[in-house]
Amino acid sequence: MSLFKSMDVENEEGKSSKNFAEVDEKVKCLIIGSGPAGYTAAIYAARANLKPVLIQGLQPGGQLTTTTEIENFPGYPEGTDGNSMMEDLKKQAERFGTDVRWGLATKVDFSKQAHKVMIDDKHVIEADTVIIATGATAKYLGLESESKYQGSGVSACATCDGFFYRNKTVAVVGGGDTACEEATYLAGLCKKVYVIVRKDYLRASKAMQKRVENTENIEVLYKRNTKELFGDNVVEGAVLIKNLGEENESEEKITIDGFFLAIGHTPNTEIFKEFVETDENGYIVTKPDSSKTNIPGVFACGDVQDHSYRQAITAAGSGCMAALDAERYLGALEG
Ligand code: NDP
Repeated sequence: MSLFKSMDVENEEGKSSKNFAEVDEKVKCLIIGSGPAGYTAAIYAARANLKPVLIQGLQPGGQLTTTTEIENFPGYPEGTDGNSMMEDLKKQAERFGTDVRWGLATKVDFSKQAHKVMIDDKHVIEADTVIIATGATAKYLGLESESKYQGSGVSACATCDGFFYRNKTVAVVGGGDTACEEATYLAGLCKKVYVIVRKDYLRASKAMQKRVENTENIEVLYKRNTKELFGDNVVEGAVLIKNLGEENESEEKITIDGFFLAIGHTPNTEIFKEFVETDENGYIVTKPDSSKTNIPGVFACGDVQDHSYRQAITAAGSGCMAALDAERYLGALEG
């Protein structure tokens, strides 16, 4: 599900009820998204007196609010949970004057130097600079049990949650580079790692495939689809369908403690694509060593432009970069 869907509000006659001609508000810096990237950009922008407005989006706090414990963010020796961390980041951003608002960016117009963003299809903000921090959404299989066990055995991030499964048995779903990378990472921590692949081959690069093949405690289960997860309160196993749709279709159960999704992410870039350059997977392209997009004054940070690291700390770092880039851009304009 995209958190920042493009849609026109339509009145009863089917016509858009609001357009970009009527500007409701002008700001120096508009930040879209409320994950670690967005809030870090806000902290830096606010301290630089850019008076940022931050639009939270459908999932305030972003992807971290769906994880359980965070132990790898520097500065939390005892670890913390995603919701508390995002609440702290929000407070820190507000402390320096960030105007944090509920709302959804529904449409943009970046055709002129005054960038316009429509919020909730009814409020137009004109911004000298826009920082896009809308993140990416992990894909799930859509099973009822996935949501039931979210945070209790189901995860979409091995680097974030793998540590909780030390010496346990886990499964990774997917046959791409992410699945192979996550499986190899988990194999270093876990007793056993199953890789559940729906086809009879891996889509990952040859090098990744080799790493998986050469890791003793990884077992690839080809031609398997996950039917359901089971367990009392936490994941204890999965029901798989072997050879789906074929004559010899059958069901089997595996015993696992953790179930990791690695079937891809969808960057939340739909509303920007008309103006902002994206790569073949939909991620925003930023200029090397910066957060600049192809549109002057529009910057991107966090998972919306990073399909490689996808960590809270890297997102936060790139949020800082975006705020500094925005400040420099405004300085050059004013100068
Ligand atoms: P991919 O789209 O490459 O792979 C997704 C995998 O999930 C495929 O094997 C696909 O199966 C499977 N899948 C999708 N939907 C389902 C479903 N409903 N049920 C079961 N399986 C499903 O995504 P990745 O995240 O792996 O990679 C995204 C991009 O990032 C790629 O270009 C990749 O090369 C790159 N990447 C590079 C890395 C590196 O170089 N170190 C690391 C990670 C990613 P099927 O094959 O049957 O479609």
